[in-house]
Amino acid sequence: MGRQSYSSRLTTNDCKSISVKFLKSNLYFYKGGSDGMKWKNTKGAETGSIGFSVSMIAGNEHIRLVYTRVVDFSGEKFDLDYTVRLSSTPCYFGGRRWWFRCPLEEDGRVCNRRAGTLYLAGDKYFGCRICYNLTYESSRDSHRFDGVVQRMGYADYKIFKKILR
Ligand SMILES: [Zn+2]
Repeated sequence: MGRQSYSSRLTTNDCKSISVKFLKSNLYFYKGGSDGMKWKNTKGAETGSIGFSVSMIAGNEHIRLVYTRVVDFSGEKFDLDYTVRLSSTPCYFGGRRWWFRCPLEEDGRVCNRRAGTLYLAGDKYFGCRICYNLTYESSRDSHRFDGVVQRMGYADYKIFKKILR
């Protein structure tokens, strides 16, 4: 398979993603902590995994992401380990809503947009939908990766636990 042509836009369903919703449902904004998760395709086969560590120290809230990225067209592997800022906005009915701040750079400037989901599309790093020029797709039949990810089993998680100290 050749490289994705530049004119054909990917959809949000074509990409692996990490969402605020997932972190929230597992209480990471409440207690912080580290874990791993994996993506599965519609047939239930694992398509990738990632280790992460959430730090909720006031004023320095961030998530650290650790994963290996294999570039589709060259097969080249990159070991990634970097942090993404988290910030919050107040909710109308109380509490706070948390967001990723997109870490991608263009012309030396960090995007920094608030995003509820970050995607892995083309490049090595997670970024927002706007940076990656992704479209939403409504058809459920076109899902290549499940939007919902699964927490890792303990055996997988041990590998990341070593790194995430
Ligand atoms: Zn962005």
